[in-house]
Amino acid sequence: MAKSKFEYVREFESEETLLPNCWIVVRIDGKAFHKFSAKHNFDKPNDLRAISLMNKAAACVMQEYKDIVIAYGQSDEYSFVLRKVCTLYNRRKSKIMTYINSLFTSSYVYHWHNYFNEKKLKYPPCFDARVILYPTDQNLKDYLSWRQADCHINNLYNTTFWNLVLKGGLTPVEAEKKLCGTVSSDKNEILFSEFDINYNNEPEVFKKGTILLRKKLTHTNSDKYKTVILPFHIDLIKEEFWERNSEVIQM
Ligand code: ATP
Ligand code: ATP
Ligand code: MG
Ligand code: MG
Ligand code: MG
Ligand code: MG
Repeated sequence: MAKSKFEYVREFESEETLLPNCWIVVRIDGKAFHKFSAKHNFDKPNDLRAISLMNKAAACVMQEYKDIVIAYGQSDEYSFVLRKVCTLYNRRKSKIMTYINSLFTSSYVYHWHNYFNEKKLKYPPCFDARVILYPTDQNLKDYLSWRQADCHINNLYNTTFWNLVLKGGLTPVEAEKKLCGTVSSDKNEILFSEFDINYNNEPEVFKKGTILLRKKLTHTNSDKYKTVILPFHIDLIKEEFWERNSEVIQM
């Protein structure tokens, strides 16, 4: 096809190529989900339907992009880790980031009704995305540990905050004031003495978030297998996780 005189504008495009040999992490995070969760009456502090929908949308992304070896989600965020040697879209940053982000978002909306049933989606949610490169395996483990530690800290705070508000009769402002300057042990003590809650017994999915892994399921009586995406709500900070799931780092 003959080139038009306008063709030159393409020269203004620039493309960032992600450094080879590095782990690629794409993290998406919901825009103003504080408001989104309130508008859609999410259970506080943790709405299990919303968590399950996040996990479903993330599984859709993993199903499409086989280079993703592990994903980790908590609250309104999800991190997707692509293998170091991945050559997807020649490692073009914008392609990788925007496809993952928009597939996650469209899957979230597409599957909304399966989790919230008759509760209608009131407006289209959106998510931001960023790409981070990690050159060493230890950097990657530390990144995921950072997100899981964040999950724990926020969940302990939110669990205490919402018990003070919903059961303790405090206003949100009063609850915030009461928690200001407290450390973990103080929050554990408030939960235990005022609400008879042992934080350790809270559901693992709330305390640990969700890890999505690919696992081989072998059929009984045959050596055929299929690969499935499975959720885990376990500790990934201890080295034991990486020993038990050594295929993640090796992929
Ligand atoms: P930003 O646009 O800067 O990300 P944000 O309001 O989304 O703003 P975040 O720090 O991302 O702020 O926090 C997400 C908020 O979404 C949480 O604080 C919580 O209020 C709400 N939220 C997310 N997931 C759930 C859930 N499963 N159940 C209840 N609330 C949730
Ligand atoms: P890529 O993923 O590389 O963008 P693509 O198949 O989307 O691949 P495009 O060059 O973006 O390729 O072309 C979009 C194609 O979508 C068109 O060639 C056409 O076949 C189809 N298409 C888009 N909009 C319409 C429309 N309104 N009616 C009919 N066909 C459409
Ligand atoms: Mg934020
Ligand atoms: Mg957010
Ligand atoms: Mg967030
Ligand atoms: Mg196209």
